[in-house]
Amino acid sequence: MASFASRVKSELQGVTRMPPHCRRAQNAARRIYAGGQQDVLFEPKKDCCARAFLRGAFLAAGTVSDPAKSYHLEITCPGEREAVLLLTLMERCGMEPKEMVRKGMPVVYIKEGQQVRDLLAMMGATVAMMDLENARILKGVRGNVNRRVNCETSNINKAVAAGMKQIRAIRALEAAGELDTLSDGLYDIAQARLAHPDATLEELGQTLVPPVSKSGVNHRLRKLCEMAEQL
Ligand SMILES: [Zn+2]
Repeated sequence: MASFASRVKSELQGVTRMPPHCRRAQNAARRIYAGGQQDVLFEPKKDCCARAFLRGAFLAAGTVSDPAKSYHLEITCPGEREAVLLLTLMERCGMEPKEMVRKGMPVVYIKEGQQVRDLLAMMGATVAMMDLENARILKGVRGNVNRRVNCETSNINKAVAAGMKQIRAIRALEAAGELDTLSDGLYDIAQARLAHPDATLEELGQTLVPPVSKSGVNHRLRKLCEMAEQL
């Protein structure tokens, strides 16, 4: 499949219906940003012409990254004067463009999903704009799922780590001959934990007769850990 940038360009090339003033602006931009020297820089006055100018500049020297990977749209400029003009026009359209220098050439770029989307729409790349919007939505959904999975994983890890710590404590008490001196309540929970190393506190409480609440289990296990620390 063609790259996103080349799909944007072929869509922009298909924008052919425009008033003469816009066509003049677009053609001027194509000449300027293709590197043609201009004594007097063409400056579009109307908003419609500013959009046509940006379209021409992008067609001549622009590129945009695949929105599935990142948001980055840039136009390489033949000189600083031409870069300032693009910065001004984009700012006039409500964007926050930035400038860098690559291989001695000023590059005006936009690095934010919504602004890239708006600029595509403004230039007339409606289909590409919707592709980008879909990618943005997909990425948002995936981000949420990843965050949730990470959170669940870390909760499981925490539970396993806590269980391992309790088992080490119980083994230490056993080795010190302390297990037989425990109260019935503590002794039962120690045996239950040894028998069910990865059970949750609720599950552990349910294995006891009579069942013990989560906070009761928690309290007893904490007590065992404290006793082991004092050995
Ligand atoms: Zn116009």
